[in-house]
Amino acid sequence: MWRNWAGDESCRPTAIERPGSVAEVVVALERAATAGERLRVAGSGHSFSDVACSDGRLMTLERMGRVLDVDRAGGRVRVEGGITLNALNAALAEHGLAMENLGDVDAQTVAGAIATATHGTGARLRNISAQVESLELVLADGSQLTVAASDADADPYLAARVAVGSLGVVTAVTLRCVPAFTLHGVDAQAPLEETLDRLEEHGAANDHFEFYVFPHTRTALTRTNNRVDGPARPRSRSREWVEDVLVTNHLLHAFCLAGRAAPPLIPRINRVVTRLAGTHEVTDRSDRIFATRRLVRFTEMEYAVPREHTATAVRRVLDLIDERGFRIPFPIEVRLVAQDDAFLSPVQGRPSGYIAVHTFKGMEWRPYFRAVEQIMDELDGRPHWGKRHFQTAATLRPRYPDWDRFQAVRARLDPDGRFVNMHTDRVLGPIAAPVSA
Ligand SMILES: Cc1cc2nc3c(=O)[nH]c(=O)nc-3n(C[C@H](O)[C@H](O)[C@H](O)COP(=O)(O)OP(=O)(O)OC[C@H]3O[C@@H](n4cnc5c(N)ncnc54)[C@H](O)[C@@H]3O)c2cc1C
Repeated sequence: MWRNWAGDESCRPTAIERPGSVAEVVVALERAATAGERLRVAGSGHSFSDVACSDGRLMTLERMGRVLDVDRAGGRVRVEGGITLNALNAALAEHGLAMENLGDVDAQTVAGAIATATHGTGARLRNISAQVESLELVLADGSQLTVAASDADADPYLAARVAVGSLGVVTAVTLRCVPAFTLHGVDAQAPLEETLDRLEEHGAANDHFEFYVFPHTRTALTRTNNRVDGPARPRSRSREWVEDVLVTNHLLHAFCLAGRAAPPLIPRINRVVTRLAGTHEVTDRSDRIFATRRLVRFTEMEYAVPREHTATAVRRVLDLIDERGFRIPFPIEVRLVAQDDAFLSPVQGRPSGYIAVHTFKGMEWRPYFRAVEQIMDELDGRPHWGKRHFQTAATLRPRYPDWDRFQAVRARLDPDGRFVNMHTDRVLGPIAAPVSA
């Protein structure tokens, strides 16, 4: 049995393959072909949907998490696909390097994070997949393919950057890095309306700006992270534990449990949590600022909308919650991401605002997420590939200008649908028929 991090998606694959080398990946794919079974690669299971589940074989690269090469002067690192972002960050720090931007946890594998266009926040900064210089894949027929930004035919590279696990097994990745840097992080509170009105300004004035807002409140819990010169000044272990574990996790968990048991109390609880959030400052190594600890289990949907619609989307979601009487004990998170060019990147071709909605584990999420999705549909939203949504290939295709180019590469690299599962059946549709010359 395989389960995702949230524990609410599972599958019972016919076999779990744990290769330790490219040669073993090839043999595992041969076994799948001989058995006539489909195969999915799972990373750390940090996607909220069944995207990594398999109705055939499942492969994990937990034995392929090595750093293969570091080019410090050129700012490049080559790693195996199964390395976690946490291990990658530690290895980069040893060489005086860092990732330019990261999401808010670091448990994901590098290949898994790339596959779904995992992102952090920063109006001028792109997602992790945009840092990919080249990807090394093993295809369904066991052949090996390297796709790189410098390829004359860039389509396979632009398709493979955000491929939702559907082109092949990513065995290694070469990433662009930057010299290690220190961030000064400030968590504060601000009136929501003012924060929304000045969103562009906050995005322009800070390297990384984001905010949370608990439903049933009108206060933004802002988080700004900016580069500073000088050394990291890590918090003491006890302060770190109080702030990151006790308050952010255990207290939130207790409040979520109370809210789940008595939903009418949720608006009041959210106002208390917001007041308790307070103001915090910390100066530390960049990856230690980006990555937070998430001990409370939840599920999530996240949409990228054109940047100019971000504030409207937030206002409409909060109004919807009040109008429909939803009782939501988890905050909405708002982030800014620069545009990129991967065919299936939700920010392809447009600077975007990401709006994420969550519910606590064990609470009904479908009616809330469906209603929010309707708003995102009206604002030309594109869903995060690793999070929950109800779209299908038919509803997604018009949102991606290069959808057909992605499907053409998919048909070339996986013509028999070895890397298909029920999720890709829904969100990517069938493999296109090969185009005759
Ligand atoms: C607590 C939490 C916080 C999160 N924070 C953020 C955030 O800040 N920003 C954000 O954008 N997302 C965030 N996410 C979502 C997460 O980053 C993505 O869902 C990511 O894809 C998970 O990576 P994974 O290694 O767990 O891959 P999985 O979830 O296991 O798999 C994801 C996809 O990658 C494919 N895949 C994995 N490995 C390979 C491989 N070697 N070759 C080919 N395909 C492969 C799988 O087939 C699947 O399609 C968060 C999730 C959680 C649970």
